[in-house]
Amino acid sequence: MIITQQLDTIRRLISECAKKQQRAAEEITLLAVSKRHSADNIRTAFKHQQIDFGENYLNEALEKQAQLSDLAIRWHYIGSIQSNKTRKIAENFAWVHTVDSLRIARRLAAQRPEHLAPLNICLQINIDQEASKSGLAPDLDILLPLVAEIQTLTTIKLKGLMCIPAPKNNKDEERQTFRKMQTLRQQINQHIFDKRLDTLSMGMSDDLDTAIECGATIVRVGTAIFGQRS
Ligand SMILES: *Cc1c(COP(=O)(O)O)cnc(C)c1O
Repeated sequence: MIITQQLDTIRRLISECAKKQQRAAEEITLLAVSKRHSADNIRTAFKHQQIDFGENYLNEALEKQAQLSDLAIRWHYIGSIQSNKTRKIAENFAWVHTVDSLRIARRLAAQRPEHLAPLNICLQINIDQEASKSGLAPDLDILLPLVAEIQTLTTIKLKGLMCIPAPKNNKDEERQTFRKMQTLRQQINQHIFDKRLDTLSMGMSDDLDTAIECGATIVRVGTAIFGQRS
């Protein structure tokens, strides 16, 4: 099965990158991005020890979750969030990587069912400050008060920061962007006494080596596992 081979290849790559940076491979979670890939393909990957799956489109995700309800998958929401979608997201995912406002964080917290563990969230940072992209500005004056507010909410757990960088021409440019994310997390953590941020969700198929070099703890890989999307 091609998916299992490609999973093995990515796992090997993650281990090698971690080793090179003297990091433990277990510090880095592979998030398999399964948008526009079938429930059957997800099942195949799950049987091959893949637990974390990322989805971008809510209705598509809910359909697949229903088909795969017999599996203990950890579902991550990584798409853009409209406020009328927060309830279903809060009810059906373990993680949300794309929170970019206090308003959305508050809605997710209010709508997270009491019987579930707190919803893990990351703040999406528009790290290259692109006009076309959503995400928070990489600005401590904005982020510090936001982090403080969000950490008062008990039904969500602020884990860290996430970014989708602009396309880069070389490894040096990639590195500059990922270093900014690493520094931002450090700077935020200097202002927090407990509940420090332990997550950097960054790095995809082509730049996960550089992301791991810069401290990524979750890398998000779709095509290199499942092939081209239809
Ligand atoms: C689609 C997507 C990915 C995976 O992209 P591939 O090119 O398929 O590896 C990662 N992160 C986010 C936020 C995505 O939307």
